Amino acid sequence: MKIAILPGDGIGPEVTEQARRVLDALDLPKLTIWEGDVGGIAYKRHGHPLPQETLEMARAADAVLFGAVGDPDCDDLPREHRPEQAILGLRSELGLFANLRPAAGYPGLEDMSSLRPEIARGIDLLVVRELNGDVYFGDKGERSSDGGREGWDAMSYNEAEVRRIAHTGFQAAQKRRGRLTSVDKANVLETSRIWRETVIEVAKEYPDVELDHMYVDNAAMQMVRSPGQFDVILTGNLFGDILSDQASACVGSIGLLASASMGERQTDFGTFGLYEPIHGSAPDIAGQGKANPIAAILSLAMLLRHSLGRENEAGRIERAVAKVVASDVRGADLGGTASTSEIGDAVLRQMTALA
Ligand code: ATP
Ligand code: MG
Repeated sequence: MKIAILPGDGIGPEVTEQARRVLDALDLPKLTIWEGDVGGIAYKRHGHPLPQETLEMARAADAVLFGAVGDPDCDDLPREHRPEQAILGLRSELGLFANLRPAAGYPGLEDMSSLRPEIARGIDLLVVRELNGDVYFGDKGERSSDGGREGWDAMSYNEAEVRRIAHTGFQAAQKRRGRLTSVDKANVLETSRIWRETVIEVAKEYPDVELDHMYVDNAAMQMVRSPGQFDVILTGNLFGDILSDQASACVGSIGLLASASMGERQTDFGTFGLYEPIHGSAPDIAGQGKANPIAAILSLAMLLRHSLGRENEAGRIERAVAKVVASDVRGADLGGTASTSEIGDAVLRQMTALA
């Protein structure tokens, strides 16, 4: 088993360090761990945010544990040298087209949700976000116009792209509560019309899954009004980015939510994937020990489950995290004073208790 850890920028190294401690404590046999540079730190050291060496390391691994990229020092660089290009490059080079973002309410954390406690308690959803298409990868640029500089970003989806992610969504729904909400903006966008028609086509293969469709504006409203109605939300790259940050605020903090990016490649133990917190590099709190490492630790749990076939260890980490989240050990994002490493300590203590 080989894991590539790419800590990246800002709070990335701080939170992945805690995930690494948890991984080390599991003492898994025959595990090789590599570490590589990615993002702004990679640009500074190697002249490129995604060095060839890092890409090869990720390719050779069974799974990648990713921190975050983004560095204010790099804001003025040409686009191809900006840290964010590294994660976009990894996703497309590694064929990772499906981003799974679970969001579930924690007992004992309702006071931190942006929602009323009785509503927060009902959240248990999974955002399945398409990762390889949409405005992120479409033709883009800047030109001059009568109104001054004009930027454009082309949004596109073809049927094959939608079909592929739709299968992921339906299969996830089958393993959960059997409900899938496809989110689009089919009343105004051509991409969304293709999206919706294709999802309806794919649905025929999953008669056991109950499908409905929602416009993204309505979905955003429904998520804060009654999130308990959602099981799996299937959506495109841009809408998925926005809705999953929103889901994190409904749960309590962006520092709690993990994600898995999957493709089709199988490893000896499961499906190859890249795992990362949904949050970014958070330069505003970097280097202060204030970052909540739970999202990174839960990303490790997803990695163990999906790529390494280690369900027992994944479950143990998740149970330990649930205990810590319900305890008075809280980071600044949850109104507490615990530091990044103190939260890591608490998770390790709970894991020992559960062993
Ligand atoms: P990206 O574009 O990479 O998603 P972003 O601009 O959305 O980044 P984040 O880096 O996710 O921004 O940070 C958003 C806010 O959430 C910041 O105020 C940051 O301090 C806070 N935040 C993010 N992650 C954590 C964490 N793990 N613990 C505590 N606060 C966090
Ligand atoms: Mg963000």
